[in-house]
Amino acid sequence: MCLAIAIYITGYSFELKADNIEQIKFFLKMEYFGAPFMSAFWMIFAYKFHFKKAASLKITIMIMVIPFLTLFFNVTNEYHKLIYTNVSAFEFEGYLLAKLSGGPWYFVNIAYAYLVQLFGMSVFFGAWRKNGYKFGTQAYWMFFGSIWPMSVNMIYIAGLSPLNLDLTPFGLSLSAIFFYVALFRYDFLELKEIVRDVTFSEINEGIIVIDDKNRLIDFNKSAKNIFAWLDLKRIGTDVSIFKECQYILKQKTDQFEMEILNKGTQKYYEIRTSVLNENNNNVGRVYFIQDISRQKEMIQALNNMASYDFQTQIYNRRGLMEEAEKELQRSRRLGHYISILMIDIDHFKLINDKHGHLAGDEVLKVLAKACKDRIRRTDILGRYGGEEFLIILPEANKEDAFRVAKDIQEYIANTELVFKDEIIKITISIGIETVIINDENFSVNELINNADMALYQAKNNGRNQISFSA
Ligand code: GH3
Ligand code: MG
Ligand code: MG
Repeated sequence: MCLAIAIYITGYSFELKADNIEQIKFFLKMEYFGAPFMSAFWMIFAYKFHFKKAASLKITIMIMVIPFLTLFFNVTNEYHKLIYTNVSAFEFEGYLLAKLSGGPWYFVNIAYAYLVQLFGMSVFFGAWRKNGYKFGTQAYWMFFGSIWPMSVNMIYIAGLSPLNLDLTPFGLSLSAIFFYVALFRYDFLELKEIVRDVTFSEINEGIIVIDDKNRLIDFNKSAKNIFAWLDLKRIGTDVSIFKECQYILKQKTDQFEMEILNKGTQKYYEIRTSVLNENNNNVGRVYFIQDISRQKEMIQALNNMASYDFQTQIYNRRGLMEEAEKELQRSRRLGHYISILMIDIDHFKLINDKHGHLAGDEVLKVLAKACKDRIRRTDILGRYGGEEFLIILPEANKEDAFRVAKDIQEYIANTELVFKDEIIKITISIGIETVIINDENFSVNELINNADMALYQAKNNGRNQISFSA
């Protein structure tokens, strides 16, 4: 639109500086490459502002038909006089000015320009009214920008303009300045709104909005993928009838985790919520739901790696010590017995030497399983060192501990292990420490040490046997 204005103004300036009628006629033709299109682009702009979308090709063509015809008729005016029936010139205060007599199409063009101006003005006025006639808003700038061409045109038609100059280009330029402010200082076409809408619907996080009476207000695609019951039909209805919602609604914190069975797989979600306030009133809540299943899995895997021995699938030393510490605290509180078994394979080095390291690994697995199968779920089994295993038996006295130790020891002694067609037979030695702990009398390390001393005793006594600590 600004380019069209510029073409028109340039032509008009040259027309005012013209020395003869031929020049006037030439520049008059040039002006029409801009003039009719000022209105057309104005129309396209107002259309886009009003309907919040660009005009379709069909509508653009409809808007452009009259301007193009006007241009064509002007260029070919000599042959039909549709625009000007007569063009002459007269001197006025040192200027050579054009005297124009309009033909029929001249008035079509004027009518078109006025209609378009009126449309624009009403669109911008409507927008200004909608935001309560606020000053300094985008609609304010648009509306006041839109009144100039018509206003100055009226001055011209009333014969009040100096030198009887057509002031329309001046008015349009003023409009352009106002529009510039409106477009670049404010958010034309409410781009922010559009971006917000797109973000809301396309973001990976699920979003659910409910009002203060737990009625569903809005939700996005991601939320629907999590909660199958979310449906446009449910908007406005109470969501607390759904079990998952009851859980969500009764949470007291702004951030919590939730397990949901989603299409047959267990998923973990982190849900954040914030209150929606309007004039200090709680009008509802928005929930942001993020899938943290992967993070959960990874954390679990890491925890596993940190606490478990991957070879034997029992606690490693770290896990063992952690669990032992916990169990000791518990036993201490209750003033109960606790027994500790330290198990070591006899002459394991020889097994490795004779059958190979891989066979040795197999033996370790068999021993771990043998121990696991002979203890209670509440007992703690771990790999303390290379071929040393530790079992903690809560609430087990000497006799209980011995029974378990004997069971494992005899089973191992009587088991033949076949590895690559070779038969491997092993024995183990076990040291037992049993105590009643009621106050700070024993630390985990002390207890393990005592069990180790008992084990040393068992080895000294000839191996394949069980000893108690002194
Ligand atoms: P004893 O306990 O009866 O005194 O004799 P030992 O031969 O078992 O003696 P020691 O405790 O010194 O040897 C432990 C051996 O266990 C040494 C090491 O090569 C072996 N070992 C430790 N960890 C592993 C393992 O993960 N796999 C295999 N195959 N061998 C292991
Ligand atoms: Mg050994
Ligand atoms: Mg050893």
